[in-house]
Amino acid sequence: MTDIHNIVVLTGAGISAESGIATFRGPGGLWEGHRVEDVCTPQALARDPELVHRFYDLRRVALGQVEPNAAHQALARLDAEWPGDLLIVTQNVDDLHERAGAKRLLHMHGELKSALCAACEHRQTWDGDMPPGTVCAACGTPAVRPDIVFFGEMPYAMDVIERAISRADLFVSIGTSGAVYPAAGFVQTAKYHGARTLELNLDRSEGSGWFHESRLGPAGTLVPEWVGQMLA
Ligand code: NAD
Ligand code: ZN
Repeated sequence: MTDIHNIVVLTGAGISAESGIATFRGPGGLWEGHRVEDVCTPQALARDPELVHRFYDLRRVALGQVEPNAAHQALARLDAEWPGDLLIVTQNVDDLHERAGAKRLLHMHGELKSALCAACEHRQTWDGDMPPGTVCAACGTPAVRPDIVFFGEMPYAMDVIERAISRADLFVSIGTSGAVYPAAGFVQTAKYHGARTLELNLDRSEGSGWFHESRLGPAGTLVPEWVGQMLA
């Protein structure tokens, strides 16, 4: 591993599956029984704020019943011990990476434990329910919404992420379907800039063909193995 210094890791819902959080495309293409269009778009929030807020309230409550798994713990160990640059970019809105101890972490699709004011963009950490019409502590507008990047909205920190990927020697994608852009395109950017690319996923993803190497299996087994190799 002597030629590898800069690593970017992308994680998706699959890394949290063994903790008991359902992935996005469960049976029938639903997320916890809902069509994505009904809970994960700005239009849905405008049309039915009660439903959308309730949906994320339930996801937030569910975080109290789950724990980080061996894959989150292994990435936290990599973060603590890897001497070169590392950026963990997660598409997940759960808090399992940080609860495992990861620090060099970006939530590109937002966080359940954060609230965003749609009027002034003030952010605050959030626990418990968030009824529609909650008043912003900074500007007083009743416009507090879940700090979640909906379909059609721009993911967070794209400039930081693109820069890290362009400098990466190794790009690793874990537990993501490769169906949601722009994250699904990161592997192509990484390869274009000369990175080696590795996928760790339960089954072949839509983007599998882009990777130099795909290892298939549960993240709770594959990620500790891979981290062990990197730190050996
Ligand atoms: P996805 O559900 O579309 O794909 C999950 C992928 O993980 C699949 O390819 C599946 O084969 C794989 N997988 C399932 N179990 C696995 C395991 N034990 N080990 C390794 N891989 C496993 O998820 P996505 O690509 O992350 O896109 C979903 C979007 O939904 C994201 O934008 C995310 O914000 C959101 N989401 C987040 C959470 C969360 O925060 N935990 C959960 C559901 C959805
Ligand atoms: Zn505000």
